[in-house]
Amino acid sequence: MRKRVALHVEKGIQLCKKCFERQGFPSALSKKIGVAPDQCEICQGMIDSIPGIAKKISYDLKGYEFDTFLVGTSLPQKILDKEDEIRSKYKIRGTEAIKSQITRMITSEIVRETHKAVNYARPDITILSSLDTGEETITPRSIWLMARYKKAIRGLAQRSSTCNVCNGLGCAACNYKGSNESSIQSLVSSYFGKKFRAEGCSFIWVGSEDEKSLVNGTGRPFYVEIRKPKKRKISKSLLKSFPVSEGLTLKSLQVLQSRPKSIPQFRMKCLVYLCGVPQSNVTKESSEQQSKIMTNEIESKFKDLSVQVRISRKFRTVSRKIRSVKVMENHENHPYVLDIDCDGGIPIRKLVLGNDNAVIPNLSPYISGYVIDPELPFDVADITLVESNSDKMNLSRQQTKVPRWPRIEPESSEDAGEDYDEVENANLVN
Ligand SMILES: [Zn+2]
Ligand SMILES: [Zn+2]
Repeated sequence: MRKRVALHVEKGIQLCKKCFERQGFPSALSKKIGVAPDQCEICQGMIDSIPGIAKKISYDLKGYEFDTFLVGTSLPQKILDKEDEIRSKYKIRGTEAIKSQITRMITSEIVRETHKAVNYARPDITILSSLDTGEETITPRSIWLMARYKKAIRGLAQRSSTCNVCNGLGCAACNYKGSNESSIQSLVSSYFGKKFRAEGCSFIWVGSEDEKSLVNGTGRPFYVEIRKPKKRKISKSLLKSFPVSEGLTLKSLQVLQSRPKSIPQFRMKCLVYLCGVPQSNVTKESSEQQSKIMTNEIESKFKDLSVQVRISRKFRTVSRKIRSVKVMENHENHPYVLDIDCDGGIPIRKLVLGNDNAVIPNLSPYISGYVIDPELPFDVADITLVESNSDKMNLSRQQTKVPRWPRIEPESSEDAGEDYDEVENANLVN
């Protein structure tokens, strides 16, 4: 230490008390030889501004609900360079760097002001204080939920589509949202957006149904990320089933630790409503053909049958299972209704009508003269999740992962409707 003091005297390094301390000088001595912070060669007065910066952050944090936080800082490069230069010149090693000292000072001030705890691995709030610009960024960790929706009205699409007036930019017609007002996506987004005072929601769907379909039984599962929530307590009312809007109910809500690493496979039961080919569409050939539903063939051939499903975007096929198809006559105001129990990931219309030979084999040869009712195509009776071993594997990997410090959550993608379709979903876990 005498050597360093000698250096100070000889070379005349001008440092403030805190900056001397950080180089390993005893506190009393640092106080004696330290210059005013604005004269300091390293921090140039920055150390002096820290309590004020920390107080402002603490004040701004009042708008957020949180238990834990983590501070990261960025300092002007010239300050970091100056400290490096002095340390290498005087061979000072193994003492705290200015960046970590400042981070520590801000952190302890926030603890004092807010009585909240620091958490390095999974903070509720991450604060980035940029001392170059004097700005701060407060980023609440996303909340990930899994829930199921039940749909009791027809004409409600699952996903939002781009507003065709403004093409997504936002206009009066779409209430400046850039998308259609009524979809499950937009209704759930605005419900959770208000509840958690969040910036927005992103979705991962576990399959989808027709806009005109109902979703009955236990409902269709989905995942939602609530981005930048200012509130994060999950109220008890969310853990019961609750209406989001007329005809749309959420239930079985679970809070996840993080983004799901894989999407589960599922099994679906649905009712497909058939009606005769409309007269206007009957061609000469098809009118000569007899309308006929081959009940026995359908029920025997499609029992525990594997079908090949072509994924158009990927130019490959996957194998999916049909457990049973039952034919019901004169049911629900339709001459025929198909009661199908199958794996998720089979496009129902293509399975029944055989379009593009996307599903092989399909039901089209056995239902000549009949089509899916355009007004009432099919309803989902129930969806069951199928647990696979790869889910468990992924989960254990996820739990052992500890994020590095300091970790600022990356911006979530702005694309609200994250798109895994049924078939691709199922492939994720294969
Ligand atoms: Zn200083
Ligand atoms: Zn618009």
